[in-house]
Amino acid sequence: MSRVGAAGPGTLFAWDDGVLVKATVTRCALSRVCGACGGSLARPVAFVGTAEEVGRNAFHAPPLHTACAEDVRRLLDPTWETVLTGGFEFVRPAKHDEDRRPTFVPNSLL
Ligand SMILES: [Zn+2]
Repeated sequence: MSRVGAAGPGTLFAWDDGVLVKATVTRCALSRVCGACGGSLARPVAFVGTAEEVGRNAFHAPPLHTACAEDVRRLLDPTWETVLTGGFEFVRPAKHDEDRRPTFVPNSLL
């Protein structure tokens, strides 16, 4: 499998200088493309997040290839954890939610 290696935080598809770009995150969710390289997702799908996000099984970072998840952690935050799932739900924030970021909920953890 050929990979587009991420050379730095600025090269990650859904991040701009380490900050998530909401429109791109939404695009990743709806088009099922990787948040790091922009390529079509395959199974399993990887999500990265803090221990708290892993504990709640709710992530803000977009779905990733498993190899790309390692790139994202290395480039952005090595303390993040990776979970693998066969699929996920994309939850848009409700109007009354204080946290307006969309959330990803892995639904078949591996
Ligand atoms: Zn990727």
